[in-house]
Amino acid sequence: MESFEQLLSQLTYDGYAAIGIGIVLILFLLHSYSVTQSKKKLRHMINDNVKVFQEAFDIAEDGMLILSENNEVVYANQSMIELFGLEVNCLDKVIPKIPAIKIKKTWSRLDKFLEEYREETKVKALSFSHACFKFIDHGEVPVNLKIDTIVMDAIRNQSCTVINVKDLRTVQEREIKERQHTLTGLPMQQQAILDLPKLYSKVHLENKKIALVLMSIDNFTNLRSIIGYEQSNAILIKFSRYLDTLKTDLNISVYHTFDNHFLLMVSKLNALGDINILVDEIQKKVASFYKMDNTNLHLTLSAGISVYPESGPTRKLLDNAYNALATAEKEGDGRIEIFIPEKSSQSYDEQTLHNDMHSALKKGEFEVYYQPIVKVTNSEIVAAEALIRWIHPTYGFIPPDVFIHLMEQTGFIIKLGKYVLEEVLKQQKRWELFKFKSIQVSINLSMIEIATGTFVQHVEKQLQHHKLNPECIKFEITEGAAMISEEKAVKYFKQLKNLGVGISLDDFGTGYTSFTYLKKFPADTVKIDKSLVDNILRDKEDQKIVHAMIELGHNLGMNVVVEGVENKEMVKILETYGCDYIQGYYFSRPLPVFEFQKLLRG
Ligand code: C2E
Ligand code: CA
Ligand code: CA
Repeated sequence: MESFEQLLSQLTYDGYAAIGIGIVLILFLLHSYSVTQSKKKLRHMINDNVKVFQEAFDIAEDGMLILSENNEVVYANQSMIELFGLEVNCLDKVIPKIPAIKIKKTWSRLDKFLEEYREETKVKALSFSHACFKFIDHGEVPVNLKIDTIVMDAIRNQSCTVINVKDLRTVQEREIKERQHTLTGLPMQQQAILDLPKLYSKVHLENKKIALVLMSIDNFTNLRSIIGYEQSNAILIKFSRYLDTLKTDLNISVYHTFDNHFLLMVSKLNALGDINILVDEIQKKVASFYKMDNTNLHLTLSAGISVYPESGPTRKLLDNAYNALATAEKEGDGRIEIFIPEKSSQSYDEQTLHNDMHSALKKGEFEVYYQPIVKVTNSEIVAAEALIRWIHPTYGFIPPDVFIHLMEQTGFIIKLGKYVLEEVLKQQKRWELFKFKSIQVSINLSMIEIATGTFVQHVEKQLQHHKLNPECIKFEITEGAAMISEEKAVKYFKQLKNLGVGISLDDFGTGYTSFTYLKKFPADTVKIDKSLVDNILRDKEDQKIVHAMIELGHNLGMNVVVEGVENKEMVKILETYGCDYIQGYYFSRPLPVFEFQKLLRG
């Protein structure tokens, strides 16, 4: 018990600060007191106080666990006993049912985990937010975790580990409740704002749209004054149940934004016409929702619609649905209004993007997509291009064309490039381990990255670190970029090529590279730009140019990839020109890794 008292006096966690100060104060008082009191009396006193603190810890919501160096339970408060299902008789023994713990993406047993972090926690307390405990009998529990090692007896070099666990289930349940409408139990607008960004990636991938349909039952205030509060609430409840059980293939989520306003989030939208049919059907149904003395009180519904991505992301999308509804209501009852931006409203505030870049990397908002590169003759996948995607919390899906140049201006591209390289190498290692078909992955490179002077060494180190063959990657540099300071570009790319990685000249045909320079540039592949092949089926001139460029590539001893191939006819014509490989929507769009690797297995 004395050791527990020592221990308590050293706890540093915020939530226990007050108690901690109390402990220190009381112990200080106790200490002064001890000068004049007998030893026996003092011990008695300390034990009493320790009991008080134990009881205080027992009423705390957070779990507290103190383990000895051998993982014996020195102390567990009530919350921890409940969370870990500890039985009183097992206290003081090695913790019996060890839950596995997940930090980031990997699971590990708790004792192993503590072992791994023991040295680190001797220096400072460690915090892990949104960790998880996995129990054999009751699944996963999301938690925030703090771990500290406290030296109890410096002379005998004894220490113990203090573990503070905040069970996030109650917090999450409370937060979800707060986002539910008290009358209908439907999620409210706040929830819709959280749900929207999660859809963007899938919507882009499937080439669909999202529609927000904001609806209001017309003249509801008047109606309420006529039929009374309870009856009008009954209409809202009936309407919410109806919406919640709507059966369509459009993938709909329903929200009760406030009072007589409801929101539908339609996330599998092919064409706007589908929405009109849906709202029409709802309007017809709502008309019969209230009967008075056996006659129907004809209810009408107005609707404002906005569509992602055209009408903007998240807040803007919602604002535009509100604007459309306001216009619809102005025009009379039962109207539908669709917000159509004058021009594409997908404008990005560059300052916001600048500010968000750094945290975006930490928050995992960037994702590497892979687009297959296939043989023209038999459509076999031989390579892929890694293309970065930014899923921004408010803007949604931002295409790289928007942010890459900003990143080049700020130099952030160096960090992003390192991230892409690391992700690709990790992925290649996984594919190697799981025996996927081996393919070369191309990574886009900006001149800024290679001009750092340390880039080549960095690549070499990373390849060694991941124990990968350099041939598994290729770097793409655009013809335009490679033309700026030609001598330097040739020097750097020769160094890079000496590592054994592939080099590809991207967007070929958009610059005006001289033949002499092309001969010097150490690329093994040229990629003919999409803009040159867009009109290849109609334009005879373009046909001649592309044909000549393919031959030029071959004469220089390079492989030729044509980008932006969107249909079968293009493939056929390119095959007759002797093109080696194609990349384009005809074969596949860029895909997230799990989707892409299905193609590799297939
Ligand atoms: P890029 O290197 O020329 O990449 C090819 C672009 O064409 C990709 O656009 C791809 O999605 C698109 N594409 C491919 N096939 C087709 C098709 O059949 N039809 C149409 N319409 N488009 C097709 P994305 O992914 O938007 O990338 C745009 C540019 O952003 C890339 O052009 C590249 O220059 C840059 N970029 C992308 N990822 C990175 C990166 O990790 N680092 C750097 N430095 N730049 C990157
Ligand atoms: Ca490229
Ligand atoms: Ca290109």
